Amino acid sequence: MHHVIIGNGIAGVQAAEAIRHLDPESEISMIAAETFPPYCRPMISLLLEGAVTPDRLPIRPGDFYESRSIRAFPGVRVTAIDSGRARLSLDTGETLAYDRLLIATGADPRAIRAEGKTLAGIFSMRTVSDVQKMLDMLSSCRSALVLGGGLVGFKAAYSLLKRGMAVTMLIASGYPLSMQLDPVSGGIIRDTLVRHGLHVETGVEVTAFEGSGRVQRAILNDGRTLACDLVVVGKGVRPATGFLAGSGIDVDLGIRVDEHLQTTISGVFAAGDVAELTDVVRKRPWINAIWPEAAAQGWIAGLNMAGRSASYQGSLGRNVIRMFDLDIMTAGIVQPQEAAGTTQVLTHLDGNGPIYRRFVLQEDRLVGFTLINRIEKGGMLVSLIQRGLPLDPEEKRLLLL
Ligand SMILES: Cc1cc2nc3c(=O)[nH]c(=O)nc-3n(C[C@H](O)[C@H](O)[C@H](O)COP(=O)(O)OP(=O)(O)OC[C@H]3O[C@@H](n4cnc5c(N)ncnc54)[C@H](O)[C@@H]3O)c2cc1C
Repeated sequence: MHHVIIGNGIAGVQAAEAIRHLDPESEISMIAAETFPPYCRPMISLLLEGAVTPDRLPIRPGDFYESRSIRAFPGVRVTAIDSGRARLSLDTGETLAYDRLLIATGADPRAIRAEGKTLAGIFSMRTVSDVQKMLDMLSSCRSALVLGGGLVGFKAAYSLLKRGMAVTMLIASGYPLSMQLDPVSGGIIRDTLVRHGLHVETGVEVTAFEGSGRVQRAILNDGRTLACDLVVVGKGVRPATGFLAGSGIDVDLGIRVDEHLQTTISGVFAAGDVAELTDVVRKRPWINAIWPEAAAQGWIAGLNMAGRSASYQGSLGRNVIRMFDLDIMTAGIVQPQEAAGTTQVLTHLDGNGPIYRRFVLQEDRLVGFTLINRIEKGGMLVSLIQRGLPLDPEEKRLLLL
């Protein structure tokens, strides 16, 4: 049996280990466009910030491939899948046959439409190599522009502020992380960033970048010009499915999979940021592109590839972020209009801490929360969402304490 895994992110790594866990004999090949050994992608912003060095990023020992008898193809990209003949085309010109295949290709940054976007100094922040290139330029940079206030834009802005740069963030909503935060918690985060020097611009877009070879300024759609010598584009990500055209594998929001992480083609599985699963609170197809989901899905996919039937119970978005003196934790649904049926929102704000707690309930069941500081009950709250038990009035009151 030959198992082929595309991608050496956390989903691919976990799948390889699950297969080996059940099956010491079968052949495993791992193909990865990146050459860096498997690493902790969420930590690349710490590399930008200067809090860690590259040797802190790997998530497995240096002999990961050899010790698990995995044939590695680093720096090789899959360009097409022929699911009828069960083989892959590689950008080396070769083909590779498989018996079972896992697609764990993660996500690609969303492109922007702006003239001059290929000038040097304009980056997305997805890979360790993106950050290494930024670091090579950093000493000659004074002012950075961050496009987008999602998780990546937010982390880039925070890291660059900590580097002492002048940072401007362009966001559509009034505060960063608007997909995860309500206006009150978003305002606390924005005000903290602004106090540490962030300049925020809302409701404007870049139409063009200018500079001779390297970016020097951005032209905004209101006619203004912003000086910048480093730009980070954080306009979200989309599942890395570009090479699947003609493969017969069904792609909707991401690659469609069943509860065993199998795609619409038998023997072909998908896991991690590239896969679409049922969200436990929304009860519909969704992509929660987060590390713990990718890890868990990779493991379950690997078990199924190796012949054990294992089911996935659905995915839940959640995150913990530390920023200056704030601990922020969010999970599930934040906007009550997203919850079906009778909804209730409970909040508690102590501005001095600040301490903020906000809970979204649907039919008396917790479906989402936001905590700022005192996040120690977060794990218990996540399991409350996952178990979906109705809460009585006293239990709801306890949430706020
Ligand atoms: C800056 C940043 C901060 C983040 N912060 C957090 C956080 O705080 N918390 C959190 O939970 N999550 C965070 N994430 C998200 C988290 O990193 C992802 O959810 C997780 O890495 C997904 O793992 P994956 O294995 O699905 O994909 P990836 O880690 O993206 O790995 C996919 C691999 O596939 C390879 N690949 C892609 N296409 C091909 C191809 N055609 N051929 C061969 N190889 C290919 C890629 O090179 C890559 O190595 C962050 C992400 C970024 C970028």
